[in-house]
Amino acid sequence: MTETISTMTYSQVIDGQPAESADYFDVINPATERIAGRAPQCTDEQIDRAMAAAVAASRSGWLRDKAKVAEALHRAGQVLSDNVDELAEVLMTEQGKPLEAARGEVLFSAAFLHYFADLEPASTPLGDGTAARGVVRTQPIGPTLAITAWNIPINLAVAKLAPAIAAGNPVILKPSPYTPLSTLRMGELLREVFPPGVLQVLSGTDELGPKLTARPEIRKITMTGSVGTGAKVYAAGAKDLKRVTLELGGNDAAILLDDYDAAAMNEPLFMAAFANTGQLCICAKRIYVPAERVDEIAEGLAAVAATMKVGPGTEPGVTMGPLQNKAQYDKVTELIEDAVAKGATVVTGGQRLPGEGYFMEPTILKGCRPGMRVVDEEQFGPVMPLIAYTELDEAVEQANGTEFGLGGSVWGADVERAESVASRVYSGMVWVNCHGEGQYPAQPFAGVKSSGLGAELGPWGLNAASDLRVDYTNLG
Ligand code: NAD
Repeated sequence: MTETISTMTYSQVIDGQPAESADYFDVINPATERIAGRAPQCTDEQIDRAMAAAVAASRSGWLRDKAKVAEALHRAGQVLSDNVDELAEVLMTEQGKPLEAARGEVLFSAAFLHYFADLEPASTPLGDGTAARGVVRTQPIGPTLAITAWNIPINLAVAKLAPAIAAGNPVILKPSPYTPLSTLRMGELLREVFPPGVLQVLSGTDELGPKLTARPEIRKITMTGSVGTGAKVYAAGAKDLKRVTLELGGNDAAILLDDYDAAAMNEPLFMAAFANTGQLCICAKRIYVPAERVDEIAEGLAAVAATMKVGPGTEPGVTMGPLQNKAQYDKVTELIEDAVAKGATVVTGGQRLPGEGYFMEPTILKGCRPGMRVVDEEQFGPVMPLIAYTELDEAVEQANGTEFGLGGSVWGADVERAESVASRVYSGMVWVNCHGEGQYPAQPFAGVKSSGLGAELGPWGLNAASDLRVDYTNLG
């Protein structure tokens, strides 16, 4: 790690200008447990200025000039690609993911900007145009607040700002206090791309979010995070009927059928559970396994785990970084202990790596069942609980039996049969013989039940960033 990176400090962006603060808060590098950098604590006066700038940008003509907006979004995508090395290093340092994964996140996000630059908003003509000329189209909502989580901070930020700006709304971006640095740096880099007030970045500790959601200038909130925070944001938005999109937690079930092809499927199933050290909302988090195949499948998955290299993102060949923060590390540790105390067996892993950093071995548990926290709660870490079933109906019922409904998957050699079982899984995204995959950013990301409200990405994401508008002229 270089000297510069160990003392990273970046500015907020308010009304097109860098905005420092008298107060800063520390950001911890999860691989070293030392301070990675400092982020400005947004002041009340800065919030006022950012709101005024967002309202002014909303009223200016620039955001309604589709050609200019598209050109700027393409340029923003190019800026991300041009600066991938720097952004990826900041992202790796504060989030923990391996450098290659951080690069992938930045480049994936650049593709989102290009996609939304070219996406045409929906427009539907009414009638045949003889007696009246009518069309249903979309219009901007107004200043949009984008609140993000710490697991994929750049991608979450871009998945919110790209459709919002494409739909003609100014955006105020508020990253998680655990990982504000990469978003702040991205804001600095994009300062020259958008006119003042179109994209602003404010950082602060957890009290900043409620201050922003309470502001009447904000007309739309799009937030990614936990279910509990989502409910608070929803309630805050209800006061003045802000539009709200929520992308919340998941506890995705993967159901393995009796013809599960272990040789072909163990590796993709493993990666679906352990990608980003298990810290993705759409990781497979509960694995339902036919009782007679538990030992064989557990062994196969443990063999995949043995090929993983856990370590700091700076080290070549590392496939899994640390947990992102101490609270998350402690929670995952508690869930493993709870499962073992209630009768689960550790097939592999279960230990913290010696030395500094929140590193944990990829952990596979068998003998898991409902009533164990690792099954009932979203664990959001490198743990794979295997739950044996004898009746398929029972597995489907348990898979559907939580408050969550983000994703789910069914795995089996007979694809038609697996699809038929998948049709009984109730979640926003249901996969067969894969988990989490897709044609992003063209496909929507949406959870049911407590996992979310509305959708991001694709034309559905552009619609969610817009209000409807009917234009109707009587020609009679
Ligand atoms: P979190 O709910 O603690 O925080 C999310 C964001 O909300 C942070 O920026 C935080 O500062 C802010 N916040 C906290 N309290 C607030 C309040 N009262 N008002 C406004 N903002 C507030 O979540 P986290 O721990 O950062 O992220 C992990 C969670 O995110 C997991 O549950 C994960 O599943 C979920 N997640 C969901 C998706 C999805 O698309 N569905 C994607 C990634 C992560």
